[in-house]
Amino acid sequence: MMSSLEAYYSEIWNKVIDEIQNSGKIDKVILDSFYRTSTLVSLSSNKAIIVGSNEVSKQIMMKEIVMISELFESIDGNTNTCEILTQVEYSKLNIPSPAQQIHESSTHIPLSSTVLNYNNVLSEYRFDNFIVGASNRECHAAALGCAYDPGNIYTPLFIYGNSGLGKTHLLNSIGNFVLNSDPTKKVYYTSGLDFVEKVVNSIQNKTIDQLKKELYDIDVLLMDDIQFLAGKEKSHEIFFSLFNELVNNRKQIVITSDRHPTEIKGLEERLISRFSSGLSVGLDSPEFETAVAILRLKISNQVSDDVIIDDDVISYLASNFSKDVRSLEGCIKRLLFYAIQFSNRDHIDMALAIETFKGQVETPAEGQEVTVSLIQRVVADYYGLTKQQLISKSRTSNIANARQIAMYLCRYLIDLPFVKIGDEFGKRDHSTVMSACKKVEANLKKDAFYRQAINELEKQIKAK
Ligand code: ADP
Ligand code: MG
Repeated sequence: MMSSLEAYYSEIWNKVIDEIQNSGKIDKVILDSFYRTSTLVSLSSNKAIIVGSNEVSKQIMMKEIVMISELFESIDGNTNTCEILTQVEYSKLNIPSPAQQIHESSTHIPLSSTVLNYNNVLSEYRFDNFIVGASNRECHAAALGCAYDPGNIYTPLFIYGNSGLGKTHLLNSIGNFVLNSDPTKKVYYTSGLDFVEKVVNSIQNKTIDQLKKELYDIDVLLMDDIQFLAGKEKSHEIFFSLFNELVNNRKQIVITSDRHPTEIKGLEERLISRFSSGLSVGLDSPEFETAVAILRLKISNQVSDDVIIDDDVISYLASNFSKDVRSLEGCIKRLLFYAIQFSNRDHIDMALAIETFKGQVETPAEGQEVTVSLIQRVVADYYGLTKQQLISKSRTSNIANARQIAMYLCRYLIDLPFVKIGDEFGKRDHSTVMSACKKVEANLKKDAFYRQAINELEKQIKAK
């Protein structure tokens, strides 16, 4: 029979494989034959170890090791490297199997020892290396408030946003700030996945009472990616009592999730309604200026001084990869890798950037016909926005205005049906597109500056 740790690893590994399958990047036959037959045998705070079902499986998976590591990172937020071994290599390492891991730990951990490792915050994530811009200002302020006066401003603070926008960074910044001001505080950073694993282990080891006792003693609880608690009954129950206990004692709780609390399926109503007693704030994709500032910071940290990166390259990266901050970081790594690996250069210019990202970013050929994508790019650039923002759900007036103009130009320059335009702009309804076009026409009639802007845009689009 599978131990619960084995079952847990198998669940995580299946989740990774399902993500790959959904992305359509790897054929299902390959996934079924090589991935699903392989096993996740260890998942520590920063490394996952997978044992291939045979040598070929290992070789096949090795080709995608970067993607696999990233998926582990996106699933549990901590594990950011991954190792793929054959059965023989694995047995040489002498790592206890998941079943043994439980058995051994249950014999070795005396009941009185601490189960939790307090003050386990990640020291590299701090407020002083977090760039603040419109997309994250509110979250940053709320997080800083909680760090400054834990338990007294709003508890719980709930931060939600897509993957890679800085949730883990903000959460740990709070922890570091609190510990800096008062090292006697008990800060505990955990994630939904980690919490479930702790509970599973403590049940096996019969240390559950010890675990609860230590949890109740926390001053600042930082719970990352709570969505992974969904459907895990026992962990849910323990978290619910912990939550109530800490809130009643005016302790600080900060929770993150990839979506708004009311949209997390599988979390109990009673817990979700407790969240509303605090504050929920959302993170957005970085806007152009913030993306540029983040790129500059990451470049100054990662890139040696003799490497020169042209300004237009930075603008190019900021407008094409600002879906999230992780992608911004990824594109710097790729650019450097490309520069060093293939051309041994220390001056990175536009030509090199275009070469590096060929196929990932559309670069219009000369005299190319006007497309939706071209219109979106020109309009986004003109208003200092990213393409993602242009098609996002944001209703900020400058974004909405640029979006209406881009929709109008799609209608006017390429005569696209309203339904098709709606599809291209974040799957909006055709009636939204119709009213956007009407609005633009009305503005054109009454506003000379507006006419001038649209003329200029039209000129730029046709010149590409
Ligand atoms: P999430 O937890 O939302 O998936 P992370 O906090 O892990 O995202 O952020 C992904 C990466 O982007 C991390 O390396 C983090 O340091 C960086 N990052 C995110 N937001 C910012 C920001 N505003 N300034 C600097 N770095 C950031
Ligand atoms: Mg995270």
